[in-house]
Amino acid sequence: MSEVRFARQLPALDPDTAFFWTSGADGRLRIGRCAACGRYQHPPLPRCPECGGDVSPTPVSGRARVASYTVNQQAWVPGLAVPFVFAAVELVEQAELYVFTNIVGCPVEDVRTGLPVEVTFEQQGEVFLPLFHPVGGADAS
Ligand SMILES: [Zn+2]
Repeated sequence: MSEVRFARQLPALDPDTAFFWTSGADGRLRIGRCAACGRYQHPPLPRCPECGGDVSPTPVSGRARVASYTVNQQAWVPGLAVPFVFAAVELVEQAELYVFTNIVGCPVEDVRTGLPVEVTFEQQGEVFLPLFHPVGGADAS
């Protein structure tokens, strides 16, 4: 069995979070949502923190805005291209629903707080890493 070196550290797939990391197999981002009150919950939890209802994976639009970000100049692992942007993006479905990700598809200096972004997936084995790029590529404003 040959060993594959990944540039990014891959998440561990546990029963509560596996759906999130494999959701991109069909090109859609899924976030846990409470069947009782409709609240989205991320990172995934088996029960809704608001009402205790069942949380199940629910497709979302994949649209978000950059809430905060940092530019990394350091290659933490061999093969990691720098600089890159590590960001918290707020999904449009719910206030303060954050996903921690990388911003791709634009120069790092183009990233700013409030930038509209949408999801794209980088497949590595069974994992589809949700990354985000600016909506429409070039800035429309
Ligand atoms: Zn609930």
